[in-house]
Amino acid sequence: MFGVPSVLVADPVDSLLLRLLSERGFEVEYRPKVSREELLREAHRFDVLVVRSRTRVDSELLKAATSLKVVARAGAGLDNIDLEAARRLGVKVVYSAGASQSVAELTIGLLVAAFRMIPLYDRLVKLGEWPKGRYPGRELAGKTLGVIGFGRIGSRVAKLAKALGMHVLAYDKRDIAGEAREAGAEPSSLSYLLSESHAITLHVPLTRETYRMISWRELEAMRDGAVLVNTSRGAVVDGRALLSALNSGKLAAAAVDVLEHEPPKESWEKELIAHPKVIATPHIGAETSEARRRIAAELAEAIARELGDELG
Ligand code: NAD
Repeated sequence: MFGVPSVLVADPVDSLLLRLLSERGFEVEYRPKVSREELLREAHRFDVLVVRSRTRVDSELLKAATSLKVVARAGAGLDNIDLEAARRLGVKVVYSAGASQSVAELTIGLLVAAFRMIPLYDRLVKLGEWPKGRYPGRELAGKTLGVIGFGRIGSRVAKLAKALGMHVLAYDKRDIAGEAREAGAEPSSLSYLLSESHAITLHVPLTRETYRMISWRELEAMRDGAVLVNTSRGAVVDGRALLSALNSGKLAAAAVDVLEHEPPKESWEKELIAHPKVIATPHIGAETSEARRRIAAELAEAIARELGDELG
């Protein structure tokens, strides 16, 4: 070893992660609100940079961080990290997928909430109304759920949806025939999934390919009255096209845990979350005590492993 490794935690993380890193003998600086300017100025002092989705780890930052050995993402999406630049500069990138079950459960919760209009009824009851039976809901059982992106989260959503009696269509760019069979899902083309599903849920990473992969054409191809759930990344859906599909009645409802800008910045994003047919949550897919604990433990382990390889 060459001295005590220093870790900068640049986004809000569970205190357990800070404790686990300190227990491993790392010198930890916790600065969850550190500005971009401060980061660029001070990044050179650290061996490890821990981020969630707030901090953009681009090539400018990676070049400024001249001692950096590991970037650790407390979560699963790596779209805020320039993986190519990290590879070029010899910086390892580690992450934790410990939130998969939490995200899958939130997805099912949003589906049920949309099919039964739970947030709408809750609002009305709190306003003193008792609108029993005003808006008939729909059951999930017997309906078709389209899962786009059949990785860790998508496959869990499929298993949960099967347990609720749904028929599940699965689309992925990989060959997922075996995995789909194991989860009781039917592998599908994107176009068949779009036209057949009563509800569609997105579980792809945000990449150049998936940026706005659900736009005007895809929304138009969906079944009338379909429900769209997005717990992946906001920019996977073209928000303006989604607004239009909700306003025209093409879609019955949408549930979004993620936006292209968080918190919302553009007027169409603000309009989207205020829309009566939209259920919006503030990127809480991974925000359970179980996921936080799992992520903390997995990440501390992964950082120690990488530094061990690097230094010893
Ligand atoms: P994963 O890597 O296990 O699965 C992603 C799947 O998408 C893979 O099977 C991959 O082949 C597929 N895919 C990639 N590009 C595709 C394309 N162009 N077309 C079709 N399929 C494609 O990832 P995961 O752990 O299941 O997470 C999925 C995403 O969920 C993450 O990338 C992240 O953005 C998001 N996420 C959100 C939250 C939240 O808080 N809401 C939490 C964790 C993860």
